[in-house]
Amino acid sequence: MKKNIILMGPPGAGKGTLAKQLMSAFNLVHISTGDMFREAIKAGTPLGTLAKSFIDKGDLVPDEVTIGIVRERLAKDDCERGFLLDGFPRTLPQAEALKKLSIEINRPIDVVINLDCDNNELIRRISGRRVCKTCGAPYHIVTLKPKVEGVCDICGGPLYQRADDNEEALKVRLGHYVQETKPLLDFYANEGLLETFDSLVGKDLLFDQVSEFLKK
Ligand code: AMP
Repeated sequence: MKKNIILMGPPGAGKGTLAKQLMSAFNLVHISTGDMFREAIKAGTPLGTLAKSFIDKGDLVPDEVTIGIVRERLAKDDCERGFLLDGFPRTLPQAEALKKLSIEINRPIDVVINLDCDNNELIRRISGRRVCKTCGAPYHIVTLKPKVEGVCDICGGPLYQRADDNEEALKVRLGHYVQETKPLLDFYANEGLLETFDSLVGKDLLFDQVSEFLKK
């Protein structure tokens, strides 16, 4: 079983949804740098204030800050059972820092799951995306509606649209993906860790395919 996993793919490819499915199925720790920043923003911490100034524009939070929070999180005891990195690494310095760190703490990366998705579909998914403010469950205004409008099926929390899920910030985010994150696919292919899946098959089939692969 592969248990230390990186999930990669452009914004809207379905990393967060797949991470939540895999986390419950395989008892893995879900580490989403985006969620960690959003929690810091909600809590009003200095990290949150700093992160917000980048996130709202669609820009990347500086490497030293992002690497610092992942370093701290990955060293915690619960990560021994296996972890899913969702949204990290996004730059080459982050990937290099992770490589060093995973050796230091003896938690080597077993596989990088890359989700492939075309641009039109990404824009459609992101512009209709809604998220539960309380538990983070993902919804979509057309393809994944809650039973009651604006209310989470799972916990009853209110649904909202992320501040960076607008057309302008999305263009910037996709630009960062192409410039800074996509080159990491070569980095991980060279390490022999890369495995690509088509996210257009839909979330349930994608989950089945990835699960089967992880069990091998
Ligand atoms: P996500 O929820 O993964 O889409 O992340 C939301 C936003 O958080 C991104 O657009 C970035 O501004 C910031 N962020 C998340 N992860 C990283 C990262 N690894 N490096 C830099 N910024 C990040």
